[in-house]
Amino acid sequence: MRYYDAIVIGAGHAGVEAALALSRLGNQTLIVTLSEKSVSHMACNPNVGGTGKGHLVREVDALGGQMGLNADSSLLQIKMLNKNKGAAVWSLRGQTDKDVYHENMLSTLRAAKNLEILEGECEDILVEGGKAVGAVVSGEKIGAKAVVLCTGVYLSSRTITGEEIHEAGPYGFENAKNLSAALLEKGLPLRRFKTGTPARVYADSIDYSVMEKEDGDYDIGCFSFMTEGKLLEQTPCYLTYTNEETHRIIRENIHRAPLYNGTIHGVGPRYCPSIEDKIMRFADKERHQIFIEPEVKDGELMYVQGMSSSLPKDVQEKMYRSVKGLENVRFARYAYAIEYDCIDPLALSPSLEVKAIENLFSAGQFNGSSGYEEAAAQGLMAGINAARKIRSLPPVILGRDEAYIGVLIDDLVTKGTNEPYRMMTARAEYRLSLRQDNADKRLTPLGREIGLVSDERWKKFCDRKAKKEAITEAFKEKVPLAKVAELFRSKGETASVGMTIEEMLKRSFITASDILPFLPESLRDPDLAAECQIDVKYGGYLLKEKAHREEMRKMEEKKLPVDMDYLAMQNLRIEARQKLDKIRPITLGQASRISGVSPADIAVLVTHLVKTNK
Ligand SMILES: Cc1cc2nc3c(=O)[nH]c(=O)nc-3n(C[C@H](O)[C@H](O)[C@H](O)COP(=O)(O)OP(=O)(O)OC[C@H]3O[C@@H](n4cnc5c(N)ncnc54)[C@H](O)[C@@H]3O)c2cc1C
Repeated sequence: MRYYDAIVIGAGHAGVEAALALSRLGNQTLIVTLSEKSVSHMACNPNVGGTGKGHLVREVDALGGQMGLNADSSLLQIKMLNKNKGAAVWSLRGQTDKDVYHENMLSTLRAAKNLEILEGECEDILVEGGKAVGAVVSGEKIGAKAVVLCTGVYLSSRTITGEEIHEAGPYGFENAKNLSAALLEKGLPLRRFKTGTPARVYADSIDYSVMEKEDGDYDIGCFSFMTEGKLLEQTPCYLTYTNEETHRIIRENIHRAPLYNGTIHGVGPRYCPSIEDKIMRFADKERHQIFIEPEVKDGELMYVQGMSSSLPKDVQEKMYRSVKGLENVRFARYAYAIEYDCIDPLALSPSLEVKAIENLFSAGQFNGSSGYEEAAAQGLMAGINAARKIRSLPPVILGRDEAYIGVLIDDLVTKGTNEPYRMMTARAEYRLSLRQDNADKRLTPLGREIGLVSDERWKKFCDRKAKKEAITEAFKEKVPLAKVAELFRSKGETASVGMTIEEMLKRSFITASDILPFLPESLRDPDLAAECQIDVKYGGYLLKEKAHREEMRKMEEKKLPVDMDYLAMQNLRIEARQKLDKIRPITLGQASRISGVSPADIAVLVTHLVKTNK
């Protein structure tokens, strides 16, 4: 039998991060995939990032993960979303060439030290004495000290377009036929989720002249803190809308929609609904946005964002062709829904280790999330923690006040989810502190400590940090009245005293570019100055957030004994007893976030801990 330190099952967005983290941390790693074609395959949108998701990409990058670099190497367009709102919710979104994205990640895997790729189907996990000791791949038993499950949307999956149902993975790829049964036999709680994707249509069958052109932003950076410069050549997307005729076609054929006629049993993502779901749930809306996005550079296919569906092909043709600019559209691939098995994430500990089977970790869509970025973030953490388990080191668990990654994992393993979970800025209670621009400041020192941040990245981080500190220091310099008055006058305002740059920046009408001339020449970096000014403008709110974070930290530091007999605690309400026993939180903070555990229950817990001297 051959042995590895770790086996990662799946080479999607979660699996590649897990495998790269493990191998970069010096572990002999095997990554198993049903097919190399599925390596970092973008089964849905050909884009990376988006609201809240852009934060995850930057955090993965700051910790030394691969997604940001890979996205930058395949960008067709980049945008900063929500620029008209506060800095907390600004999020990067990049349109990528999905073929280049896949090929570059595959090359990275092939070039990685300590990493082997194996095509085959994992049929079972080897477990001895409650610990994972390997996997069975296409009939071969392979030994390992840790196993990471990243099976995505492939477990016993089936694709559905109207009455047409195929036992298959996305894009017609092979699915995984045997692993679900093996996991169920080991007592893992599996359930069925569903997601969907729109049609891919021929680019030359679209009339772009009647659509709105959507250009990218040329004045912003890319995802990775390592990528220099800006994306100067960008490919446009296009915007059009559904209309009353589209809605009529859908309503008239709703009895043929698998979502509504009982064919689909899996639960779909509320925040990424199909077009038939949108029409039925938001009946009063007159139109819905449809974005036409390139799948690859100068390619023949376009992705029709907003028209995800599982309606039959003939209905899809009618409804797509009712949209302005799509009257003569030709289909390359029809829209479809996919159902798949995944685990109830309440079965996982915050390190992403399966509670019932030691040394078995899991990440990505298998954990009940949806999205490439959510998958990559979990994959990275599962890889890090599997590597630490192998070396008997304590796990790295990011707090909700440290990273969106912390929010994502805490939500999944503490609250669970009844639908494919996706990240949103609204889920983060400390979003003013957890901005995409400061992900490196928050996480790169930790990535260095873990061992994933290279010397080159570390040097770049230290230089950037030093420069930002110098700019922040320079903000304290006083500017004479004459110059302040001149600047204020140009904005239609008046000034009667000289003031520091910081004081000027606190005025809503003063921007970072206005104060650049007052900085020493060596510090006139418009991007860094723009980042530094955010901390000034939101200074008061940030202080309040900090005070709240410190309060919550105290709860997080209070560890709960692993052997606590919650069921025997008569003073707790029955629901709280059962939930605490099922989830077994590791801190008082985590216990307080479990739905069904009230502040009164926490008070009972605290009293019990004090009484029993724990
Ligand atoms: C139709 C469709 C629509 C989607 N829509 C959206 C959307 O609108 N928004 C969004 O954010 N996300 C969407 N997604 C989800 C997105 O594709 C996933 O979130 C993301 O790919 C998950 O990454 P992952 O690494 O967990 O799994 P995947 O990317 O699914 O990768 C799984 C990997 O595991 C391998 N594998 C599985 N089982 C085995 C086995 N037994 N043995 C060996 N290898 C195995 C596969 O070969 C593959 O390499 C959609 C996906 C699909 C298929």
